[in-house]
Amino acid sequence: MKNLDFRARIVVSRTVIWSKPGLGIKLRAMKVVSLQSGSNGNCFFVESGAVRLLFDAGISGKQAEERLARHGRDIRSVDGLFISHDHSDHTRSVGVFQRKFGMPVYITRPTLTAVQRYQKIGKLERVRIFTAGSSQSFGDVTVHSVPTPHDSVDGVAFVVEDKQHRVGILTDLGHAFDGLREVLRSLDAVVIESNYDTEMLQTGPYPEHLKRRISGAGGHLSNEDAAMLLQQTRSERLKWACLCHLSEENNEPERARATHQRILGEDFPLHIASRYDVSEIFEL
Ligand SMILES: [Zn+2]
Ligand SMILES: [Zn+2]
Repeated sequence: MKNLDFRARIVVSRTVIWSKPGLGIKLRAMKVVSLQSGSNGNCFFVESGAVRLLFDAGISGKQAEERLARHGRDIRSVDGLFISHDHSDHTRSVGVFQRKFGMPVYITRPTLTAVQRYQKIGKLERVRIFTAGSSQSFGDVTVHSVPTPHDSVDGVAFVVEDKQHRVGILTDLGHAFDGLREVLRSLDAVVIESNYDTEMLQTGPYPEHLKRRISGAGGHLSNEDAAMLLQQTRSERLKWACLCHLSEENNEPERARATHQRILGEDFPLHIASRYDVSEIFEL
């Protein structure tokens, strides 16, 4: 079903390329940008043709606006903001994004209730309730939600699909739950959490209960967990992986990279989302 919020913009797509002159086969790029990722705030941008979507609102409106503008995108042209779960590193600025930039907010009912009860997000308009596991369409772009066992009230991860590509925005996963491998096998690219280095977590400053929470079934994937998952599911179609939600205290980008390279090989195409800044544009 067509989404009523989707206002087709008349855009002479900058992303249209021709596979071979004369064949007339149009290939449209899908573009992914991490505006920031970590327990200090998460926000991702996905674009396919004229459709522009944001995933999570854990950074300030000003940061999101500026970081998108650095890649020439106006945040006011975003067609929808999807919220993965009720933790504040994903929801902090949902009210600001909605009120300041006008975008509709796609959120599940339990997540909305939790956010409204425990966080000061202010008044929200243009709320679009979806059920965990359902899909929403924006023209020929579809966002599938995948329920996760993360310790939130109703967490989901996302797969964004257009007619040619599937990209996963898979963060705050809990553990390698049933069905996750199947999702990974279907993807052309993935943004996936690689939260902690096991040794750093074990020997680090966190209290025991927090260590258990993070490494438990409702916490986060470690570098090794994420790398093993990628190794078990890698297919010809996977073009790159972008590691996200790296912990400040229990991980380091170079450690994460080394673990993934040890398990996946040096030539595996790997990006790492910064905790502090916007990434380059990752294309498909
Ligand atoms: Zn998080
Ligand atoms: Zn979380």
